[in-house]
Amino acid sequence: MNRVYNFAPGPSALPLPVLEKAAAELACYGDTGMSVMEMSHRSSMYLDIYRHAEALLREVMGVPEDYAVLFLPGGATAQFAAIPMNLMGEDGSADYIDSGNFAHGALVEAKKFGKVRVVASSREENYMRIPSWNEADFDPNAKYFHITTNNTIFGTRYTELPKTGKVPLAADMSSNILSERYNVSDFGVIYAGAQKNIGPAGMAIVIVRKDLLGQAQASTPKIYDWAKQAEAESMVNTPPTYTIYMAGLCLEWLKAQGGVEAIEKVNIEKAKLLYDFLDESKLFKGTADPAFRSRMNVTYVTGDKDRDADFVKQAAKAGLVNLKGHRLVGGIRASIYNAMPMEGVQALVSFMKEYEAHV
Ligand SMILES: *Cc1c(COP(=O)(O)O)cnc(C)c1O
Repeated sequence: MNRVYNFAPGPSALPLPVLEKAAAELACYGDTGMSVMEMSHRSSMYLDIYRHAEALLREVMGVPEDYAVLFLPGGATAQFAAIPMNLMGEDGSADYIDSGNFAHGALVEAKKFGKVRVVASSREENYMRIPSWNEADFDPNAKYFHITTNNTIFGTRYTELPKTGKVPLAADMSSNILSERYNVSDFGVIYAGAQKNIGPAGMAIVIVRKDLLGQAQASTPKIYDWAKQAEAESMVNTPPTYTIYMAGLCLEWLKAQGGVEAIEKVNIEKAKLLYDFLDESKLFKGTADPAFRSRMNVTYVTGDKDRDADFVKQAAKAGLVNLKGHRLVGGIRASIYNAMPMEGVQALVSFMKEYEAHV
């Protein structure tokens, strides 16, 4: 077996022990005589897998009892629509911060369901920083306030949360969930596509305060209705059963690493190693405002498009793959989610040093 260091932004690297366990259980799970993929989602053997994944998520994130946890199909993008459908009410308004391409996508989608106010934006600066905000601009009667805690494409992260008072904070945590500690009670809703820090693609996790349930717009399709999904343990229809099982394995792995608190320390070190090198390098330069640097997605350039492309190509030959930046930023992006070990970042930095010495 010859595994590469995979710096892909999502779908992204999964921990090797998770893949190995899944492989060992692929054809025959426990003593059930069948694969998890072949189980009825209503069977008690599958319900055990589902409830185990939910319990682990609650444990590692410290999700309080008054929050529902849902595992839903359609990724984070489905939730861009589900958020307003469930929270906007029939003629409500919501506040959004536009801090990146996904944040923008979320607010564009929300406009189909109600009134959207953009209270801060860094769009004009190509999202190189989290915009500053003024609390006086927030609508105290907004149905919710939406942020994107980590901006995957541009490599920025919030270092503090906006204070929204009674207005529930709704956060897209797709690219930094489980990578750093958050106090779940600071949020009305947390949601995240699975393919960065949770498991395989095609699913989102939604953590929602229970008092926010049951107010969906009348036209809300039932698979998007969180209250109905909460009642049905995410099984209004056949859920992404295998992806939920894989998420459970990833959560077991995370717990074995010491949980979110322990992995946060590793993530800080990994990011520091890379940023420290970028700051001293004569060739490579970070693109995000240093005050808001993401610990998950590190974006940088050489200043020469052909050189960037050459670097990405040479790195791939050395087993460091998927380093091409998003087309909106160009350059290079190293996504270093929980599953990327310190050794992977060390290998990348060594390769960058060598590359720099030879150009
Ligand atoms: C990847 C990503 C999404 C999109 O997730 P899908 O699962 O493709 O819908 C949304 N928001 C953020 C912050 C992301 O990183």
